[in-house]
Amino acid sequence: MPAKCTIKEKLDRRIARGGAEDCWNWTGAKNRQGYGQICHLGRGVLAHRAAYENAFGVSPGTLVVMHKCDNPSCCNPRHLLLGTVRDNNNDRHRKNRSRGGSSLGECNPVAKITAEQARAIFLDPRPHNHVAAEYGIAFQTVHNIRARKSWGHATRDLSVGYARWRSEQANARAGSQFR
Ligand SMILES: [Zn+2]
Repeated sequence: MPAKCTIKEKLDRRIARGGAEDCWNWTGAKNRQGYGQICHLGRGVLAHRAAYENAFGVSPGTLVVMHKCDNPSCCNPRHLLLGTVRDNNNDRHRKNRSRGGSSLGECNPVAKITAEQARAIFLDPRPHNHVAAEYGIAFQTVHNIRARKSWGHATRDLSVGYARWRSEQANARAGSQFR
């Protein structure tokens, strides 16, 4: 492999792509936890994190890229989810508990959404509180998605969904004052 291979080329070579919903396993080197590893510009990079960045165009930075499928070697972006370290710990506790393992104290699982759901929430014309209730997430989370304060990378190609609906409502109200 030439030294100047891009991360994308390395990913393309080593990810065994399957169907859209399948796990796409890493066929290259893996670390002890089973995560795929790439050596890029002399630096070790975790394959699923690179795959996330490659698919969504956003670096996870200090956030954790979690696996919905629980398969550390999987690089299918549809199975990857961005979360905080706390989300990741909650996720681990919840999965342990569902397997009958012991859980360390009480933990409230944090409702998480996928990029697809973020897009649906962005476009949903209903008010924040209706959408928050439907997805089991906080009002503020809905607000942040619609204001593109979070999930901006997932909604950046969408035209204003909720915002347009709201301005139509405001126009309708303004219009009715003159009737
Ligand atoms: Zn998977």
